[in-house]
Amino acid sequence: MRLLLLPGDGIGPEIVAATVQVLRAANDVFSLDLTFEERSIGFDALKATGTTMPEEVLDAARAADGLIMGPVSHNAYPPRSEGGVNPSAILRSGLDLYANVRPARTRAGLDAPSQRTFDLVLFRENTEGFYADRNMPSGPAEFAPDADMALAMRKITRRASARIADAAFAAAEAREARKVTAVHKANVLRLSDGLFLEETRAAAARHPSVSYDEVLVDAMAAHLVREPERFDVIVTTNMFGDILSDLASELSGGLGLAASLNHGDTYAMAQAQHGSAPDIAGQGIANPSSLIGSASLLLDWLGRTRQEPALSKAGHAISTALDHALRDVMARTPDIGGKGSTMVFASAVAALMKGEG
Ligand code: ATP
Repeated sequence: MRLLLLPGDGIGPEIVAATVQVLRAANDVFSLDLTFEERSIGFDALKATGTTMPEEVLDAARAADGLIMGPVSHNAYPPRSEGGVNPSAILRSGLDLYANVRPARTRAGLDAPSQRTFDLVLFRENTEGFYADRNMPSGPAEFAPDADMALAMRKITRRASARIADAAFAAAEAREARKVTAVHKANVLRLSDGLFLEETRAAAARHPSVSYDEVLVDAMAAHLVREPERFDVIVTTNMFGDILSDLASELSGGLGLAASLNHGDTYAMAQAQHGSAPDIAGQGIANPSSLIGSASLLLDWLGRTRQEPALSKAGHAISTALDHALRDVMARTPDIGGKGSTMVFASAVAALMKGEG
């Protein structure tokens, strides 16, 4: 199994290094035969090659079994004409990573803003919607006809809606609650969200063992705060999913815990939900749980799609070790009330994996 490491910007290199330490422990314990390769993206790549996303990185990604991507500071990049492009957007569209899977759950022994106990997973469509830098085959979907007017287009297709809905229902089938909630704004976006709902309803009919309901996105924001335990699998369009998953992660304890997996039918990429956190970069205090959790999702996905049960087993073992380490105030990072550091925490997770913790 060849894993491609893309450290990225800000806290990216720190949390990628921490994640690799845990993956090496999993490799030893489960004899996974993992190998690691690394490529530069972001500011490092810009300095060395003149672009934040060298073309050969996409080739290397296609040749790998899975990707571990650190966050990037794309908002701070120079314009496209000077080499600044968002690597995340290129990888998501270039590898057709149409599903962005974002779990959020409370954990025993860890304080959370939500007083409720919940365990949900949000499936966010990842290739179209309101994302002007990636939802058109050429040219951006945002433009200014004159200096006082700007227009943005939101693209919803039947195919993308059907495949994210199927991914959400398939995940629900393997969970205890077996429930999918589609989140939309079809009362005003009648055509686009109407089309999205046609496809989530069709997927519901294809998966009769899973219960199904629909909630308006504005109501959903309130429901997530009031009664997050009501939800199991949530499926929604790109930007609604981006916003609601941050809300759910924050309710579960903070962005530092927010894992995510981007996958298509062939490729998958582990990527934390949050950004590059430049305010704490280089201090050794970033919480690597987000990316370690993402790597555990990646191993599980690889195990299921490549029929390699040891990989799924390792993914679950990482998740269990992560939960245990998060209870340890001396190991966990300051953003979640701990006294540890990025690498102290990674060592604690790795030791638990090896049965030494
Ligand atoms: P960017 O410009 O890359 O989006 P940002 O700082 O604006 O970066 P985030 O990186 O998402 O946005 O961070 C929001 C806040 O959450 C910041 O205060 C950051 O320090 C904190 N944060 C995000 N990720 C982590 C993490 N892994 N560990 C600790 N704190 C984090």
